This record gives sequence, C-alpha cells and structure tokens, in this order.
Amino acid sequence: MSYLFEPAPIASVSVLGCEQRFPVHRIYCVGKNYADHIREMGSDPARDEPCFFLKPTDALVLDGKVPYPPGTKNYHYEGELVLALDKGGSNISPETAHEHIFGYAAGLDMTRRDLQLAAGKIGMPWDTGKGFDYSAPLSALTRKQDCGLLTKGSIQLWVNDQLRQNADLADLIWKSHEIISQLSRLYTLQPGDLIFTGTPAGVGAVVPGDRLRLAITGLSELQVQITAPL
Ligand code: MN
Repeated sequence: MSYLFEPAPIASVSVLGCEQRFPVHRIYCVGKNYADHIREMGSDPARDEPCFFLKPTDALVLDGKVPYPPGTKNYHYEGELVLALDKGGSNISPETAHEHIFGYAAGLDMTRRDLQLAAGKIGMPWDTGKGFDYSAPLSALTRKQDCGLLTKGSIQLWVNDQLRQNADLADLIWKSHEIISQLSRLYTLQPGDLIFTGTPAGVGAVVPGDRLRLAITGLSELQVQITAPL
C-alpha cells in the first residue's frame, strides 16, 4: 500500500518505569464534573449534568512547550486527572469499569474560553474553544499497578508559583468508573483512549511567559510553559 503523502505519526505517551509507549486512540473529555467549577462558570450543579466532548489526538503536548493559540483573547488552563485505557468495550458496567484503566496522567484541558462561551450562548458546539492545536498538554503516564486506583487525593495547579486550583479527586461528580461506563454507552471505547475527567474551580487566563505546574497525588507532575504564538 502506498500513500499520497506521509501519514501523521501515531500519537503516544511515555509510561513511567516502562520501555514501551502508550499509543493514543482518542481523547475524550468530561465537562462540568466538579460542583465548584460549575458554580464559577455561572451554572447550577443541581441542574447541569456532566457532558462529553473530544479533542484531536494531535493536540497532545508532551514536551511542556505550549504556544499561545490564535483566535482568542481569553486563553484558560483547566487542570485535570486523565485516565488511560488499555481495554475497550461498549456498555461497560460501573462495577467492572476499573478493569479498563491502564494508568493515569496529569493533563491540561487548555481552552479558548471566549470562543467556548460564545458558542455555548447560541447552542453551537464547543470544538473551536476546546479541540484546537496544542490544547492537550499531558504528563507521562503512571501505571495503575504502580499507583493503585485513584479515587481521592489532591489535585493542585500553580501559575507562576501561585496556587490557583486546589481540590480533591473525591469531589468529582462522576467518578472514574462512572465516566467509563457512561462514555461506553455512547461510544465503543478502545485500548489507547484517554479521558480528561474535568476541572475543579480556579480556572483562569494565561499569557506567553506564564509557567503552569499541575500536581496530582501519586502521579508525575506536569510542567508547562506558555510560549509566543507560532
Ligand atoms: Mn475541562
């Protein structure tokens, strides 16, 4: 078989303590999964259910250098726990969903907030606000066999050494096993899928030169520098 031009490389993530890389299939994201963040966005957690969206796999940033994106004047960070699946399936029960988790990473759901809010106001999709180039910085993966099931523990994000997000994974509205189960009723999950589980309160804007640090209990820290637009 020959191609008209060189196909894009397969996206993959390094795994702590493992020679082999984790090949990425899709990147799913959960929106509105911490009550305090739903409130800071002006909604009511009692009425606003968590929602799903996707990012392209080539939006992953693994070297910590994130160029400021075009088309926005309000570019936000969202620090999140990321699940990495090594088993797929559909209609997965919440009781067995943890068996699909290979490991975890710290990830940033970078967001063009102005575009996301403008789209939301008129009932249009979030894609330009969420699924753009360099919008998914990610740490190395930690295997579940090394850190155990992550159901609680701190998630903290600093911008230029100032603590901006400070929450506990136990505050997730939909827990990891419920997210996997819910998603698998809408999509056939595959080995290599990543799931960004949502962000707690404290989101905010960043500009070129800012340094971000995301620390989640038991995982390797994610450090990112926002660089000049390309
Ligand atoms: Mn998010």
